[in-house]
Parts: sequence; C-alpha cells; structure tokens
Amino acid sequence: MDQILGQVLRNAVWERLDTLASLPDEADAGSLASVARTELPRLAQAWRAMLSAHEPDSRGDCPTCSTRWHRSKAPCSVWQAAHEHLVAGGLAQTPEQRTSSEGRHALRMPHVAGLGAG
Ligand SMILES: [Zn+2]
Repeated sequence: MDQILGQVLRNAVWERLDTLASLPDEADAGSLASVARTELPRLAQAWRAMLSAHEPDSRGDCPTCSTRWHRSKAPCSVWQAAHEHLVAGGLAQTPEQRTSSEGRHALRMPHVAGLGAG
C-alpha cells in the first residue's frame, strides 16, 4: 500500500472514531441506542481482530511488535492499551476522568494537519 493510500485509510479510521466518539453528545437517545446496537459488536470485533495479532507466541513475545533484532515481551503496548481502556477504567470512568486520561497518553494523533478531511 503506498503512502498516500495509507494516509487516506488512516484518516478514514480516525474520522470514524471521531464520529463514534461524538455520538453521545450529538445523537438523541433513540438514535444512540440504535447505533450502539450495531457499533458496539463491531468495535468489540475490531478489538478482537487487533488483539489476536498481538497474542504472545510460545516464547511469551508479541509476534507483531517483535522484530528479528528486538523481541517485544507480552503484553505488548496494544494489550496494555486494551486493558487500560477496556478493563482498568474505561467502563467505570466519568467523562472528566477519561479526558484527563487521554491527555496523559496523547493517543489522539494530529491527523487533521495531514491531508485534511476534505
Ligand atoms: Zn504487539
């Protein structure tokens, strides 16, 4: 995949996440419930697909994050992020706590400065 196509793909995913994240503020309760019914299983499936690529191998290393020269011990950063956001606090935090947590990790990438949203 060339660089431009990769950037387009990544922007599309970031924009999708922006849309999903803004739904609680912008959609009415009925629409939100409807979207949640379809999107929550899809998000869970996306996490499963991503995490399955980062399952530790027989040596306890992540096969995806490891290189020939550097072994990445499991749980790798993908699993750590999954645990932090899905288990450790994601479901129990208030929006204010989530905001401060996101600021600390700066997971949001500056994709807007790239090719732009159109
Ligand atoms: Zn990994």
